[in-house]
Amino acid sequence: MTQMHCAFCGGVIRNVAAIEHRPPRFSAQLALTTPEPCACERPIVYDDPPMIEPPADDAAPAPAPRAGSTEDLLREIEAVHQQFEAGTLSYEEFEATKADLLGQLPVD
Ligand SMILES: [Zn+2]
Repeated sequence: MTQMHCAFCGGVIRNVAAIEHRPPRFSAQLALTTPEPCACERPIVYDDPPMIEPPADDAAPAPAPRAGSTEDLLREIEAVHQQFEAGTLSYEEFEATKADLLGQLPVD
C-alpha cells in the first residue's frame, strides 16, 4: 500500500479526507518524508508534478513479424511454385510447403 506524505511536514497522512490538494508548482517546497504521522490539520498534497507525467503515448512499437514479412512469404510461395513447375518439388511437398507458408501470413 502506498503511503501519502504531507508536503508541508513530510509526515504520513492518516486522514486522507482532510488532504488539501494543490496544483503542482515547480517551486513547490516539499518537506522530506518521514515515517511519522502528519500532525497538520489540513495535510497538503501537491498533485502530480508536470515533470514526472507519464508520456501521453505509450504505444508499443509494432511487434516484429514472427517469420518474415508478408512480402517475403509471398516470394517464398512463388519460389516453391516455380520449383514445383520445374519438377524439383513433388505436388505433395509443394502443397505442404505452400500451406505452411500461407499459415505464417499475418492474419488481421
Ligand atoms: Zn503535515
